[in-house]
Amino acid sequence: MSLYLYNTYNRKKELFNSIDIGRVKLYTCGPTVYDFSHIGNFRTFLFQDLLKRWLLHIGYEVYHVMNITDVDDKTIKRSREEDVDIRILTNKYESFFIDDIKWLKIIPADLFPRATEYISQMIKMIQNLSEKGFAYKDDDGSMYFSISEFCEYGNLSKMKIDSKKPTNRVLNDEYDKGSINDFALWKGWKNEDGNVVWDAPWGKGRPGWHIECSVMSNETLGGHFDIHCGGVDNIFPHHENEIAQSKCATGEKFVNYWLHSEHLMIESNKMSKSSGNYLTINELKEDGFSPESIRYQLLSGHYRTKILFSKNKKHESDKIIQRILDFYNFLKTKDADKVITTSLPEDYKYFEMAMNNDLDTPQAFAVFFKWMKRQNKKINIGAFSEDELGSSWNFLTVFNSIFGLTVNDELRIPSFIKKILLLRQKARANKDWKSSDSLRDELNQKGWIVEDTKNGQKIKKI
Ligand code: AMP
Ligand code: ZN
Repeated sequence: MSLYLYNTYNRKKELFNSIDIGRVKLYTCGPTVYDFSHIGNFRTFLFQDLLKRWLLHIGYEVYHVMNITDVDDKTIKRSREEDVDIRILTNKYESFFIDDIKWLKIIPADLFPRATEYISQMIKMIQNLSEKGFAYKDDDGSMYFSISEFCEYGNLSKMKIDSKKPTNRVLNDEYDKGSINDFALWKGWKNEDGNVVWDAPWGKGRPGWHIECSVMSNETLGGHFDIHCGGVDNIFPHHENEIAQSKCATGEKFVNYWLHSEHLMIESNKMSKSSGNYLTINELKEDGFSPESIRYQLLSGHYRTKILFSKNKKHESDKIIQRILDFYNFLKTKDADKVITTSLPEDYKYFEMAMNNDLDTPQAFAVFFKWMKRQNKKINIGAFSEDELGSSWNFLTVFNSIFGLTVNDELRIPSFIKKILLLRQKARANKDWKSSDSLRDELNQKGWIVEDTKNGQKIKKI
């Protein structure tokens, strides 16, 4: 079955094909560590976790890079306000962030590069852009990207540059669509930057926010990679500017699929730190929220629709989590986890279809809960057949490996093991006993024993 993802660049769902067979390179814009991340930020990070878990489930290896923005306008401003060294400030909030993602059961990225560790590479990229005529220096020692030199500028955000209007310059990292202008690659040093300063051939200063992601992605994933994610507010100017910098610097296509998640709202406004209307994980913990309950609220809406977070929905999500747990406990008391089979119920097909359709979680949840309700009904009237134990366990295992909604997370057979089982199943169907045996040996080496029964392969841990 094929995976379709909505590519913001082309504004349509597209068939997903990775550049390297079976391997996905994923870059996601990470937190700006000047404060606690709020649950709006975590909506975006959870969407990325969902995407990654689904890619892993359908058999891809995923190499995931999430950057840490530890120098920008906001971090400098906050360190000045609090009169604390920027490194102390950013280390503190980076470690809170890592704690929060662990608590929320987000699979950590393979790499968390910090912007401050890539300054020399940023200087090189700016130099490269300058040599090619895409960058110029301003009187205050800042370097700007000349957007009129890049004819594709505006293609991601679907904005047109008015060629009759003289281009101005924006120094701020964040600005709105009303001010499409040349943007800062490097900001010449000012008093308020204090000791946040590096030497560059054109003068001392610090990088702009956008060049940070172009460089960190290039250094860790190469100039051309599969998927780049962020929240919708990243489309302009951040990702538009990343494309301009990266394409002009490397001459390569930059990213194949751009995926953006919609905002988490609070009382019909975007949840944001600047407006002060936000909730942190700590606050929700104090209110007795479990990670599963937050995951449910943040994942049950489709990632491309706005959702409203409400503390009042806690009771409802807790009830749903409890229902899953009751079902899990029932299966466990029946030793369903010891029934070793790779079979899945019919309904799984519809679940898979929904997830492959641009991660349609509302539909996938509907399929799973309808099926669970039917199973519970059978349990209540004593009509649940022992034959269904294994397949029920497997569906629950898959569901949990994607959504992480039960407390016990040890439910899953890793996807690479499932892949070997699938290959072995095919080999056996083709009476290719040699391949079947060597795949069995491979499973043994990886710590699993496979047994062939009249109901198919049964697998257990050695
Ligand atoms: P920041 O720490 O501000 O750099 O943001 C980290 C990520 O959170 C970015 O990808 C933003 O697009 C995303 N984000 C910010 N506010 C919200 C929100 N209210 N809902 C969903 N995502 C958000
Ligand atoms: Zn970024």
